[in-house]
Amino acid sequence: GHNNLNAKLVLLGDMGAGKSSLLLLFVKGHFLEFQESTIGAAFFSHTLAVNDATVKFEIWDTAGQERYHILAPMYYRGAAAAIIVYDITSADSFALAKKWVQELQKQGNPNMVMALAGNKADLEDRRSVPAEEARIYAEDNGLFFMETSAKTALNVNEIFYEIAKRLPRA
Ligand code: GDP
Ligand code: MG
Repeated sequence: GHNNLNAKLVLLGDMGAGKSSLLLLFVKGHFLEFQESTIGAAFFSHTLAVNDATVKFEIWDTAGQERYHILAPMYYRGAAAAIIVYDITSADSFALAKKWVQELQKQGNPNMVMALAGNKADLEDRRSVPAEEARIYAEDNGLFFMETSAKTALNVNEIFYEIAKRLPRA
């Protein structure tokens, strides 16, 4: 019906930040301590019911390595939404997340719903990116921000629901 929406979503961020783990938890409901690295990119689809609508996410999980960067536009072009993932224990991964945000602001769909995910929130004792710093960055750049954990499931469904709610309705 008219309340059913298909939405292309792309996951971007440093290798090892937890993109595949967040997606695996969202789509299949489990976490792997030794998640295999993504080669190139992987595709998943998953449907959510939000209020009176269903949103079918068509999700591209990208690899994150620099050598695959050239392929990234294939995945974010035309995407309705992006989740940019960093690891709260890695300042480098946060710096890289900001670069992805800049690239999407320049090259992506101007109406794209963008979420910033500070993942591995379970590793508080190894934190190197203050939540407040990321929150302010996100606010200044028009993204919404959540800290997540694919290990404890913190905010994993929530971030996808929040995106679904923000997608423009036809
Ligand atoms: P990707 O390269 O961004 O897809 O990252 P992966 O999903 O492959 O995860 C990299 C490693 O971090 C794997 O060993 C995961 O088990 C681990 N990992 C992912 N998310 C979390 C998390 O939220 N907490 C913890 N403690 N480990 C995580
Ligand atoms: Mg991966």
